[in-house]
Amino acid sequence: MNPVADRLEAHFTQWLRTLESDARLGSPGDTGDPDGPHGLPRSSAPVRYGEWEEADGHTREVRMTRPEWMLNQLDAVLALGDVITPDDVTVVAAPYELSLEGASIERAVEWLGASLISVGTSNTICPVPRLLDLIHRYRVTTLACPPQLAAELAALDEAAGRDPGASGVHTLIATRPAAPERLRRIAAAWGASAFEIFSTPSRPATATPCGAGRLHLPEDRFDVSLRSPAPGRIDSDGTRGELLLTARDPESSTPPALPTGELVELRPSRTPCACGSGSRIVIPLGRVADAVPTPRGPVSQVDVEHCLFTSPEPQGRVTSTVEDGRLSVAFAVRSGTDRDHAALQELVLSRLGPAVELVPFVEEIAEADTRARSSR
Ligand SMILES: [Zn+2]
Repeated sequence: MNPVADRLEAHFTQWLRTLESDARLGSPGDTGDPDGPHGLPRSSAPVRYGEWEEADGHTREVRMTRPEWMLNQLDAVLALGDVITPDDVTVVAAPYELSLEGASIERAVEWLGASLISVGTSNTICPVPRLLDLIHRYRVTTLACPPQLAAELAALDEAAGRDPGASGVHTLIATRPAAPERLRRIAAAWGASAFEIFSTPSRPATATPCGAGRLHLPEDRFDVSLRSPAPGRIDSDGTRGELLLTARDPESSTPPALPTGELVELRPSRTPCACGSGSRIVIPLGRVADAVPTPRGPVSQVDVEHCLFTSPEPQGRVTSTVEDGRLSVAFAVRSGTDRDHAALQELVLSRLGPAVELVPFVEEIAEADTRARSSR
């Protein structure tokens, strides 16, 4: 048994007993557990509620059953078990309010035996300067947060005259998508290795990374499809669109394909991965609501990052807004000339079309600028 499984044996045993009990209560002919909420058998009653907003502003409910939550947690723990040990002190700045993501990562960190500093993303009790102070005071080793927040923290640390690379943080767990080179540069500013986990509103551990650095979908848990598929841009053999998840439910012949609000590129089935796994590889691109439609399919900030970070100039901080069908992307640079920026704009135009506008700014950070924490 490997060390992670060894530490988790007690949890697994308890979970398996509960799942077996649920399976008995939820079996055909069962009249339902009288103690189950909403008069449902315990196995199909929700244990987690959440909400999220679609691109058109429509609010969707999330109801996760106990077996779904446990299987999600198994995936999360097994993935994070590669990077978190009982010696770690982990900051988790992932959404908590009406979201499953923060809870999922925090439970996984606890079950792996690490220490936890839970700061959420509301930015009221724990704004960025306070969070930075906590990182130094409690000798944090692992940051689990959106890449943009990790970049802002590093920039603020440097502005205060410190070297984030000397802080003791050795692992950055990115909870939102970013281009690989952007993520590598943000992690490098901390002297850390980058690791990525892909969440959707109804499934916090939708895809977890393999040893080759690819994100794999656990297709034994659910089937995947795309809404409004378009040709791949990052992988020319891939297809992009909003990810739809269909739970594998032996009780239902036609389970619904549920939207996730997340734009992804899927590599073709059975695309070989260096890790040896045959499960589907996914490239997350951010929220559908944050992308712009173009004649060749939607374009997101992550697509722009793939262009920007071919240059050594951009630092980690990148934000974007969508207005009037255009994607305006602001990014920090150390220096760079107008000629450098014109070359980047030309590259973006040739790869992504005219819907993207670049707004470089010189890397300077003032404390007041960090009070509004980005969600990206
Ligand atoms: Zn792999």
